[in-house]
Amino acid sequence: MCAPAREGRALPYCLAAAALAAAAAAPLGTGLLARSRCPPGFEEASDEGRSFGAWHVHTRRSDGRGTDGDVARAAREAGLQFAVLADHNVDPLPPRRVEGVLLVDAVEVSAPSGHVVALGVTRAPAPEERGTVLRWVHRGGGEAYLAHPTHPARGWRDDAAALSADGAEALSLDTGLHLLRTPARLVPALLAYPLAPDAVLQAALAPDPGAFALVRRMREMGSPGIRLCAVDAHGFPPYERMFRTVRLELNLALPRDPAEAARALRRAIAEGSGLCRVAGAGERAPEPDADGVSIWTAPGLLHGTRQAVATFPLRAP
Ligand SMILES: [Zn+2]
Ligand SMILES: [Zn+2]
Repeated sequence: MCAPAREGRALPYCLAAAALAAAAAAPLGTGLLARSRCPPGFEEASDEGRSFGAWHVHTRRSDGRGTDGDVARAAREAGLQFAVLADHNVDPLPPRRVEGVLLVDAVEVSAPSGHVVALGVTRAPAPEERGTVLRWVHRGGGEAYLAHPTHPARGWRDDAAALSADGAEALSLDTGLHLLRTPARLVPALLAYPLAPDAVLQAALAPDPGAFALVRRMREMGSPGIRLCAVDAHGFPPYERMFRTVRLELNLALPRDPAEAARALRRAIAEGSGLCRVAGAGERAPEPDADGVSIWTAPGLLHGTRQAVATFPLRAP
């Protein structure tokens, strides 16, 4: 574990793990062990007054591979305190704690214009309600966040309607993995994955200027313009590995009661009180740009360098 779910701090544990590994293992194994347990960029985080979690996870209730228990265990091992599940078009279950991890159900709605993560709704919309899904969510008192809006196959296709959403996934690991499927990118990724899986997943999280521009336009139209970072995890690559790659860090200590915790979590996201962090940059993350996005020059998969997102606040400054 890099950061235990409810107790202690990440830093001492990671240092201890790294020191143990350094003392005990062969040089190659040491590097890999230390890297896989404490992804650079996450090890400095303290959980005081903050909560770490995964946004947009699928379970067997739709097309994911794992149960609630599988997701919760993976989240706990990755040092997370919550996961927002977003199964496709199924009624949400009440908020609950599983293995000490808060699970909050959203609904990923398949609408004619694209996918929407609806948070705070009590049921999934009927097929005939999906055509006006953003209005439907708002009428039901929830928030509507566009899922993977720039995905080449499953992106959002109605620019005008997009502006009334509460925000969008400005970074989507699932979209990034989809974009790796060109021969020029796939071959290095497949070669590198067995040795450095974290680096491959991080490479899939390249900056997505189109998604950030979309959220900027939303804000200009009066939307809160929340920018989320989604794992969109289905269980392969394994949940835990994806949870270690990108996460939400909310500025709140989660209340013990699941229903109360879910309300606080919703509020923190809607207010943009927190940030997204991609593992890898650590202390090398440069100063954020005017949009609040910190982008660093990361090592390439096999050689050279690439641009990678380090952090950004859920709400642009
Ligand atoms: Zn989707
Ligand atoms: Zn999804």
